[in-house]
Parts: sequence; structure tokens; C-alpha cells
Amino acid sequence: MRFFSPASCAGICLFPLEYLFPRFCGFCGTVLMGPDENGYGLCAFCRRELDALALFPGGEPCGRCGRPLISESGTCLPCRNAEEGSVDSAAVVYPYSGTYRRLLAAYKFGKNLALGRFFAEKIIEVLDRLPLRDAEGAALVPVPPRPGKIRKTGWDQIEYLARFLKRAGKDRPGIPPVCRCLRRLSSDSQKKLDRKARQKNLAGRITVTQKVPPLAVLFDDVMTTGSTLEACAGALKASGARRVYGICLFYD
Ligand SMILES: [Zn+2]
Ligand SMILES: [Zn+2]
Repeated sequence: MRFFSPASCAGICLFPLEYLFPRFCGFCGTVLMGPDENGYGLCAFCRRELDALALFPGGEPCGRCGRPLISESGTCLPCRNAEEGSVDSAAVVYPYSGTYRRLLAAYKFGKNLALGRFFAEKIIEVLDRLPLRDAEGAALVPVPPRPGKIRKTGWDQIEYLARFLKRAGKDRPGIPPVCRCLRRLSSDSQKKLDRKARQKNLAGRITVTQKVPPLAVLFDDVMTTGSTLEACAGALKASGARRVYGICLFYD
């Protein structure tokens, strides 16, 4: 049975209740108890743990890509070796390794949609650290999906986060509006490509569909080489954006 109709609404339609209020924790798999746990798709214990582990408490992030620094200071080695890019600075929340992979898989493939609320809150925590206060014309820009992705998976996970963020912005000042100003044209899958090949694969494949904000905060699920974020930031700057930040929930 199909529950969503991608063509009509960017892949967010009639989700069954078990997707919206999942029964099992997206991290440890335990049975969820009560509306708060169901509403976040996580048991209270995992939510507390994940809150505490977000954004490397005590660890220094790379000033450019946001990954934690190991023995470097200021900027990580890959960023130091890469040429100047269009992303002014990026932040990441969790490593995309070990048990953390389960978290994203529960959201993307297990359709634990309540995790979207948890992820949106993490994005808001990063936003609180950015110098957006008094910034005129700031907007959140979702990284656009690959064409055909919605048809294949039935929904757009980033667009789903955009809706949580838009709703959160109604209650909380300081959360910029969502601006869906980018579109992605078809390209080969990025999965097996290295940084250079990804850049080449994406060249000219991100287009602007409307006026871009002067200050854009891109958000996406996983940062692998940073090429997708970079291609989006390049398109935004070519169309007039002055500053572009990036937020990715996971880094590979
Ligand atoms: Zn749990
Ligand atoms: Zn870096």
C-alpha cells in the first residue's frame, strides 16, 4: 500500500500514525512510553544522551567545515588543503559512524518521522550559535534533493525538516524563514566519488529558482566531502548571497 503521493506535495502527505508517532526509539530500539517519547521518536534516556553529545561538548570544531579537530588547531587538515570555497563556515552535529548511523537510518528508511522534530531542534541549537541576530534578510535554505529521489524513497527528508523549522519559527523569534530557492538537476550518484569528482559531477547542477537571501543558512542531513554544500553555496553567492553558512546533522 502507498501512503504518500510525491507528485502532489513534495513527498509529505498522508503518513500513517505509526510513522508520525513511532513505537520504538530510533536510537536504542526500546518501546517508547508516553506522548513526549513518541513525539520525538526517542526514549527519554537516548534523548538526554544525544542532547549531551551534540556539537562536541568540550571539543574544538574546524572553523570551516565544523568537524571536530583531532590534533590540529583552527582548521582541519582537509580544509587547509582545499581551495577557498563559498561556504563561509559550516557546523555539524553528530558523526555518521557507529550507532549514530542508526539514528539517521531510523529517520530516512525506518520512517521514524518524529525524529524530524529532534533533528530540527538540533539545527536550531546550531542557529543559536551563528551571528544571525540583527542580520537582515537571513533565511534557511534546504539543500535540494536529487531529481527522482522522492519518487524512489517516497519523501524528502530535508523538506520535512524545513516544515518543522518553519513551524518552530512561528513561536520563536530568531529562527529565519525558510527559502526554497535552489533546485538540483540530475547528475550521477555521488556515493562512490571523491571530493574532486563530486565537485565536477555537481558543477552547474544546482540552480537558483527565485531571489536568494543575502544571508543563507543551508541545511542538509550528511556532510561527506562538503561538495554538495559547496555547490549550493556557490550557486547562492553567484546569485547575490553575501554570506552562506551550512548546517549538517551528520558528518562522514
Ligand atoms: Zn532509546
Ligand atoms: Zn575542516
